[in-house]
Amino acid sequence: MAAPQHVRAAPLARALRATATATASAPVPIKSQGTSRRALLGLSEPQLRQLALDLGQESYRGKQLHDLLYKSRAKQIQDFNHVPKAFREALLGAGWSAGRSPVHHAITASDGTTKILLKLEDNRLIETVGIPVDDDNKGSSRLTACVSSQVGCPLRCSFCATGKGGFARNLQPHEIVEQVLAIEETFKHRVTNVVFMGMGEPMMNLKSVLEAHRCFNKELKIGQRMMTISTVGVPNTIKMLASHKLQSTLAVSLHAPNQKLRETIVPSAKSYPLGALMDDCKNYFLETGRRVSFEYTLLAGINDEKQHAEELAELLRTCGGGYHVNLIPYNPIEGSEYKRPYRKVVQAFVDALEARKITVSVRQTRGLDANAACGQLRNEFQKNPLLEIEPSPSTEPTLVPA
Ligand code: SAH
Repeated sequence: MAAPQHVRAAPLARALRATATATASAPVPIKSQGTSRRALLGLSEPQLRQLALDLGQESYRGKQLHDLLYKSRAKQIQDFNHVPKAFREALLGAGWSAGRSPVHHAITASDGTTKILLKLEDNRLIETVGIPVDDDNKGSSRLTACVSSQVGCPLRCSFCATGKGGFARNLQPHEIVEQVLAIEETFKHRVTNVVFMGMGEPMMNLKSVLEAHRCFNKELKIGQRMMTISTVGVPNTIKMLASHKLQSTLAVSLHAPNQKLRETIVPSAKSYPLGALMDDCKNYFLETGRRVSFEYTLLAGINDEKQHAEELAELLRTCGGGYHVNLIPYNPIEGSEYKRPYRKVVQAFVDALEARKITVSVRQTRGLDANAACGQLRNEFQKNPLLEIEPSPSTEPTLVPA
């Protein structure tokens, strides 16, 4: 069925145009919006070897670049001391940068959750969050990186701080990758899990998300099964993602068990009816064998009643099962009337789902004192960034002689 045209359809249409080109592009990124230089970060070893050859160097110099980026974590080409000065100059002359941004601000909550604001080349700020979890039983500890995929978000889910801050642009692959590096450097611990649940809608920037995903997996050795891509639903993109047959989890943000209620919470749902979204999820499971996870933000008095849980269970049952529900009690944000449900209401919702054999987990609220909800910290530091900030003056690096 053709998606009806609504006010909110424009960003979806743009997303489709952007993702339609995703599969046909060259492996080496081109200069694009928001960045004046091409970034080395995110490239594979073969790509870096080819780049070295293209710049008149021997192939092993590309391997050295790889080590500098992913092992030594050099932040600027000027710091690439292992390669000859002439090569560094050639890289800078050809318009390359290492692809790292400075930390603008970081804030740590009592439970260790740390939100980091990175300042991008065009002065935009993005949030990334490190969430440490000690697994006492196994004596191991996990560190989850919650990464942003866009500067802001065009989809404006009614309870989300990111949407309220507006939308500027998609992130480049290196701007996603560097978030994980920033978290590892802050925690002095390797990132074990990645969730694409920060600012933005990953499926509207699928090309960069897939490149960053590749880099996390191949260069940073983060298992595909340790990664989750979360979407509120963008037409045709779930099918596209399924064709990549990733071993990662697809999480779909539902927030309501029926179309009418969903439209009031998620405006973009008007362009992608719930029935079509659920069909795509079912096909995703059939094609990849990977169980889809559904996120459901519980808003007091809006979508948290027992009848909503029952309707949700029925919706999932008609879609063939094999699903998991992740409940997220609402994190209050500035300028929103929504309220967080009481714990007993959350438990009643869980019980109603479990009674219908739906596996369910409740996302612990972590780091509430660090402005936990997505987009909140960025909004605090950049009130109107997406309309007013001018592109930064030239940030051409100067070569420091070794
Ligand atoms: N655009 C993607 C990723 C966004 S954030 C998506 O919608 O899935 C990841 C999850 O956090 C989403 O389920 C989102 O709805 C939820 N979320 C955002 N703000 C929230 C808030 N204030 N309280 C609770 N959940 C929130």
